[in-house]
Amino acid sequence: MAQDYRTTRWNLEQFRGEDGKLIHNVDGGYPVYYLDGEDNVLCPDCANESEAENEAGHEYRPIAGDVHYEGPDILCDQDNAHVIESAYGDPDSKEEEIYVYDT
Ligand SMILES: [Zn+2]
Repeated sequence: MAQDYRTTRWNLEQFRGEDGKLIHNVDGGYPVYYLDGEDNVLCPDCANESEAENEAGHEYRPIAGDVHYEGPDILCDQDNAHVIESAYGDPDSKEEEIYVYDT
């Protein structure tokens, strides 16, 4: 059975791929986002970049990860342009309903 990411959330190491990099999606395609030591949200690309650029213990290095199952899109704080979309969308968003019908 697949790992239950809901109960093991926030542990960064579970989101590391075989190549040692932080992954974009967990099994099933669910999107992952990361938090650095200052609680900034990082998209997977920026999390990997930040890990490569900053020494261990630096506040900008990612320290936690989570799966974005449901809710509004999350913006990466690194540049406010990278969007992490939730797996099931935002149940409170009317725009999301329209979007679903469009596809
Ligand atoms: Zn980013």
